[in-house]
Amino acid sequence: VKYNKIYKSSGYFCNSKNQKLKKKEFIISKLKIGEIIIKVKYCGLCHSDLNLIHKNWKFAKFPFVPGHEIIGTVVAKSNNVKEFIIGERVAVGWFSKFCNKCIQCLKKNENMCRNYELVCVGRNGGFANYVKIDQSSVFKVPKEMLSKHLAPLTCAGWTVFGALTSFNIKRYSKVAILGIGGLGHLAIQFGNKMNFEMTAITTSENKIADCKKFGAKYVMDIKSFYEKKDNYDFILVTAKANYDWRSVLKTLNFDGTVCFISRPDKLIKFDIFDIMYKRARITASPGASKLSMRKMFDFARKNKIKPAVEVYDLNKVNNVIKKMINRKIKYRAVFKVS
Ligand SMILES: [Zn+2]
Ligand SMILES: [Zn+2]
Repeated sequence: VKYNKIYKSSGYFCNSKNQKLKKKEFIISKLKIGEIIIKVKYCGLCHSDLNLIHKNWKFAKFPFVPGHEIIGTVVAKSNNVKEFIIGERVAVGWFSKFCNKCIQCLKKNENMCRNYELVCVGRNGGFANYVKIDQSSVFKVPKEMLSKHLAPLTCAGWTVFGALTSFNIKRYSKVAILGIGGLGHLAIQFGNKMNFEMTAITTSENKIADCKKFGAKYVMDIKSFYEKKDNYDFILVTAKANYDWRSVLKTLNFDGTVCFISRPDKLIKFDIFDIMYKRARITASPGASKLSMRKMFDFARKNKIKPAVEVYDLNKVNNVIKKMINRKIKYRAVFKVS
């Protein structure tokens, strides 16, 4: 075990709000108990990275290296790490540490841990050669799947899987996915294999054929969707667009649920009567538990879930971020790091 070796890394730093990322060498500090150093192979670009770069979320801390959809190889570990071996391929998502002590961790809702730490907040993420992560949030991956496909599953896949499995949606339920991008295109695939009747809501005509391939029974634009009154058992909101929320609620079936895994820019207003007469629910889902991550990988392997990725070299990172801001990334950009 190369416990004391110093790892020189090089990564793309965001030094302040809205700035282009700049390449810089840095030293990975000595391992603490429970920590693992991972050589990054592939890392996805998630909208949460943009929210940190733009400081849309107050907890962003500069400077930092973005990237939290990480697939890589264990190159060093502290002596007490038994679950992972050197050379093993592993995954890391949004979180970098769970406390394993708080009430939510004890209830196995680690994604609601009261003391969690994040990969890109107060530490550096996957747009770098190496990352240092606590073993509590490192995951094993299915051998059969390619790293470029696994990367988006670690955050986007985990989040949609958590939402689609946490609210007791029955087989053959009508499920609508609002917004078909990185999250949405995976939600269609997972939901279809869970035997839900999937509807994709997108304004992009060039995504209609893809959505059918992903497993959507119906694909429609937002206006046609608003006309489907009392219809959907579950609506998953994956885009940050500011829809007409009262019209969205009207499309919910009796006892239906609308669940947010994205955060629209504007506050949402509605009348309680919009949901009361049909006992509808409005909820949101924060990632998912550790067990969910394992189940998600297993489900993805068995059902051949395949993220639609555009692979780029990491030195193109600023161009790709620009493309994402301009909505020119169709589903998911993934960087080949090493
Ligand atoms: Zn993410
Ligand atoms: Zn905890």
